[in-house]
Amino acid sequence: MVITGVAGVGKSTVLQIVKTKTNYEIINFGTLMFEMAQAVGLVKDRDELRKLPVDTQINLQKKASAAIGKMDNVIVDTHMTIKTPKGYMPGLPEWVLRELKVSSYFLIEADPALILKRRNSDPSRRRDEDTIDDIIEHQQINRSYAAANSIYTAATIKFIENVEGKPDIAAQNIVKRLMP
Ligand code: AMP
Ligand code: MG
Repeated sequence: MVITGVAGVGKSTVLQIVKTKTNYEIINFGTLMFEMAQAVGLVKDRDELRKLPVDTQINLQKKASAAIGKMDNVIVDTHMTIKTPKGYMPGLPEWVLRELKVSSYFLIEADPALILKRRNSDPSRRRDEDTIDDIIEHQQINRSYAAANSIYTAATIKFIENVEGKPDIAAQNIVKRLMP
């Protein structure tokens, strides 16, 4: 299954809790892409990936999805859309879906004001200078892409709210849906 959420939504925090409660391995799509890009000198940090030419990003995306396609019982931590300087790019285009064999999507969402606050207090990342309206748009567009993607694979979609201070509830909401 695939878990997505915009930058700063608290995805990593929620997934750390999910990890302690399941046997699934959590694979970060961006980390695979970053390691591949870094190895050939394309980027120095993961926030440079989305600024690369789109065809370069697609190449890396294909390589990362091929690697993940060989793994079983994984939860993939990724993005429904990537905000590139040219516009939104699908994180899960048809060729990625074919590799990943997605059975369900979980979209982690949060109050846009909280997302903005979390981004501004995270010195480890170079986040985009988004406004509240930009974040609202990004979360909305992600729902549309999820709906479009689910047609290909009959994957289910679940929206999970990450309430401030309660990532354990969001994690529990995911864990209880991991059982067959
Ligand atoms: P993250 O740490 O999850 O924000 O991921 C870091 C970066 O990896 C993102 O900003 C994207 O540039 C890239 N990335 C992650 N997942 C995908 C994907 N499915 N397709 C394309 N790029 C991705
Ligand atoms: Mg993350």
